[in-house]
Amino acid sequence: MTKPPLIIHLAAPRGFCAGVDRAIKIVEMALEKWGAPVYVRHEIVHNKYVVDDLRAKGAVFVEELDDCPPDRPVIFSAHGVPKSVPLEAARRQMLFVDATCPLVSKVHIEAARHHEAGLQMIMIGHEGHPETIGTMGQLPEGEVLLVETVEDVARVAVRDPARLAFVTQTTLSVDDTAEIVAALQARFPAIVGPHKEDICYATTNRQEAVKVMAPMADAMLVVGAPNSSNSKRLVEVGARAGCRYAQLVQRATDIDWRALEGIRSLGITAGASAPEVLVNEVIDAFRERFEVTVKPVVTAEENVEFKVPRVLRETA
Ligand code: SF4
Repeated sequence: MTKPPLIIHLAAPRGFCAGVDRAIKIVEMALEKWGAPVYVRHEIVHNKYVVDDLRAKGAVFVEELDDCPPDRPVIFSAHGVPKSVPLEAARRQMLFVDATCPLVSKVHIEAARHHEAGLQMIMIGHEGHPETIGTMGQLPEGEVLLVETVEDVARVAVRDPARLAFVTQTTLSVDDTAEIVAALQARFPAIVGPHKEDICYATTNRQEAVKVMAPMADAMLVVGAPNSSNSKRLVEVGARAGCRYAQLVQRATDIDWRALEGIRSLGITAGASAPEVLVNEVIDAFRERFEVTVKPVVTAEENVEFKVPRVLRETA
């Protein structure tokens, strides 16, 4: 039986960012250096495949420090942690490695600097996301006010409208955030913003690629996890850019073949925590049913790399 033709527009950049790459390397190097088990507080990055792979190598994933024995190393996830967490680990004299992405740490430093200058902080982010919890947890309780929407900006009650600054989560929608920032600046003209955008290069680049790719495709799949903020944003960006069907899939088994009946072209991208092996798995699943031609849609080149912490670079 001849297979129907299908053009796959493959977004680039897609998948792993430098922060995710570094966080995974940190766990692997810690396992090499100290042996298993190595404890990891929270999913190191939001991807089940990555977490399962590290678990098989000897990593143990826990939610709190209390779940870690005092005599084993513990790693903090790429999303960042409230200040209280490393302080508590140090108090307990635990061996810990912080895998917080340097671009998230940069936001932490920004927030602390504004606080020291006497400004109250507003964070644009998603309530309950570990990155938001980590960033808000850099300052004393009540010093960071969270806004998620333009409507929240109208409601937020601040101490002094003349002494405010804002930071953002790194994985937000570039367009939604621009609207929220504009609303903040309209209501609080004196508000101080980041020197440079807090939304990171990887989030921005992946969204840009989707904006170009989505209008070319009858449908679009984002390989990523349901708890991955940047992956969910890519689905929204694709739908907004005019793609009639934009869907998140963790891997090939999630593909809804009925919904894709009759398509002639498909866009594929992957969130910053999704490994390329899962993108290939999805493409291979289409090859079984279609005569596939892959066309890359390249909108940027990335060459960002972050060093792992010194403790892991030193030989034992
Ligand atoms: S998405 Fe951006 S901020 Fe988050 S880990 Fe990757 S590079 Fe760092």
